[in-house]
Amino acid sequence: MTEEICDLCGNAAVEPACDMVAGARGRRMFLCTHCGMVRAAPIANAEERQARLTLWSDLDLEVSAAQSHLVLARRHLDFDAALEILDLGAKRGHFLTRVLAGAPHAHVTAIEPNPRLTCAYRRDPRVSFIPERLEDVTLPREHFDLVYAARTLAHLQSPRAALTKLWQALKPGGRLLVQVPNLRVIANADAEETYFGEEPRFHFATETLHRLLSCVGFKLLEDATPKVARSLTMIATKVDRALAPVAAMPREVENAEALLAAYAALPVRRAPEFSQAATA
Ligand SMILES: [Zn+2]
Repeated sequence: MTEEICDLCGNAAVEPACDMVAGARGRRMFLCTHCGMVRAAPIANAEERQARLTLWSDLDLEVSAAQSHLVLARRHLDFDAALEILDLGAKRGHFLTRVLAGAPHAHVTAIEPNPRLTCAYRRDPRVSFIPERLEDVTLPREHFDLVYAARTLAHLQSPRAALTKLWQALKPGGRLLVQVPNLRVIANADAEETYFGEEPRFHFATETLHRLLSCVGFKLLEDATPKVARSLTMIATKVDRALAPVAAMPREVENAEALLAAYAALPVRRAPEFSQAATA
């Protein structure tokens, strides 16, 4: 058994739930039977993830996500102000370059450990570029108006520890825009096994993300997740920390169990497609 402690609730209640249907890695999904948080192990290493970042499908996703996230951020921030923005896992900079174009007095701190992706912005005078991982960076306290964390938190060892660090770095009332993998995507008959199978460490139900945000000290402002989406997108604001223990949530555990059981049945549902591909 490995890593039994749940990142959200801190209980030693994490148990194997099902094996991945795709991929040769022997990946498993684990479920916290106290709060319903879902985790996968082992995850792709940094080299494999960087190689994947060159895929065009990912590029398309990054661009469309950045455009919709910009619209969302505008609804909750004054883009005429001298905003201090932290872009966590800035990748190719699709979000930050749009922010800098739309917010003339903004300054962006970009954290991106993969230098191959950063040529569009790393020498921009309005960007402070930090080529490291969040875990290795010391952030100023109460400095930022917006933290942008898209497709980043779910890859970290502890999203809760990362969010606590980001909470400290935000000004009181500062905003957090977060995008993480949506656990519900595996309920779709055309779920992409490789995406789900090889990439993030954590997959979130809506309620799980709500609870993670609130236990760190964020109040949800808007759940901007489209109806059927492979990611959850939310914007929250920093409030006082409520350090209460995370209560048991049997319904969330049941929901996650049902989703994972459906996912485990995927090869059976897809059997005709697999055999067609084999004879094509
Ligand atoms: Zn838990």
